[in-house]
Amino acid sequence: MAVSTFLFAVLAPFSAAEAGTVTAVAVDDRQIIIRFDDVVEKASSFTLAGPNRIAVDVSGATPGAGQGGSGFVSSVRQARFNENTARIVFDLAEPAIVSGGSFASDGRSLTLTLQPVANERFSAAAVSGRKSYLPPEAHRAAPPRSRYNITVPLDAPKSGLPRPKIYGPKGRPLVVIDAGHGGHDPGAISPHGGKREKDVTLAIARAIRDELIAAGRVRVALTREDDRFLVLRERTAIARNLGADLFVSVHADSAGSPDATGATIYTLSEVASDKEAAAYAARENKADIINGVNLGKENSDIASILVDLAQRESMNASANFAKLMKREASREIRFRPDFLKNAGFAVLKSPDMPSILLEVGYLTNADDTNRLVSGEGQRQIATGMRKAIDIHFAQRTASR
Ligand code: ZN
Repeated sequence: MAVSTFLFAVLAPFSAAEAGTVTAVAVDDRQIIIRFDDVVEKASSFTLAGPNRIAVDVSGATPGAGQGGSGFVSSVRQARFNENTARIVFDLAEPAIVSGGSFASDGRSLTLTLQPVANERFSAAAVSGRKSYLPPEAHRAAPPRSRYNITVPLDAPKSGLPRPKIYGPKGRPLVVIDAGHGGHDPGAISPHGGKREKDVTLAIARAIRDELIAAGRVRVALTREDDRFLVLRERTAIARNLGADLFVSVHADSAGSPDATGATIYTLSEVASDKEAAAYAARENKADIINGVNLGKENSDIASILVDLAQRESMNASANFAKLMKREASREIRFRPDFLKNAGFAVLKSPDMPSILLEVGYLTNADDTNRLVSGEGQRQIATGMRKAIDIHFAQRTASR
């Protein structure tokens, strides 16, 4: 895959939104009540295991006053998650999930109901995604008009980020497919006919795009539709700018042995992530913003909590998608026996959308190469990908 350069972009939303401030967080036996001094835009909650926590993101709110825990909640923390969002974290003394929630009719408070559960149920909740809550329309803050500034310390593009075309009907989830390498970076080169990874990945990305458009259930965009160079961080930055719901980076492997064959999926591992989260926090203190997490106003403990939370959530979702992909696409894509790997690739570092890197096969293997460069082989990969993506979004819809 030849991912050797480690370059990154820092995304900085710069619109100061009008926002309500959290004026109270009250926890009693089975209830959490969060109060605001003004209307807010929306809220969502999700669950994180090990240590067990419930996190509540409130858009259109800034963090403010709170209180200690009680009942199932041992402590309460608040921080600014990004320019427009307050995150409130409830550390749990016992496993409990949010079984329901709603805003008051004036939109000035959010009440969540807690339900104690067994550990297995809690673990299931921890990978099930977010629950969302909307204030009544008449008492709801408008979303901010955000503007994004991109800083790329190395290999800065001459003009801003490319904004690729989005295919498909409005309102559908957006899948961004990233064709690895491009331009002056060919990636791996096959000893079988000199095929270049950058061309193979682009052809497969286009095949996946066409398959998804034909199925019509998601929107799709490619980070590049031609032979151009993008630094790694630009690839996820493009997807984030577009508000992608899923990010798939397509690569082709190479190995010393011509016998190595089959597809591999990479996601971030928890271990790598924890270490990387700490390294990120240390390295990025000057920039104040890590992957959209604003650290400027918070102490380093909170900062590392935020990065940890942000990454853990999408790691669970990413690992789930990787497993689902193996299950749903195994007829079309031949996976390696050890198909799932964990690593800290820059291209996967996007905390707010599930992201995988798919190595479709080996350019150093003759059979793999023949399949990867053929129209039929590319369509098969696209079909497998489409099946996995369909199930992924169907499951997400069902869990809401
Ligand atoms: Zn590659």
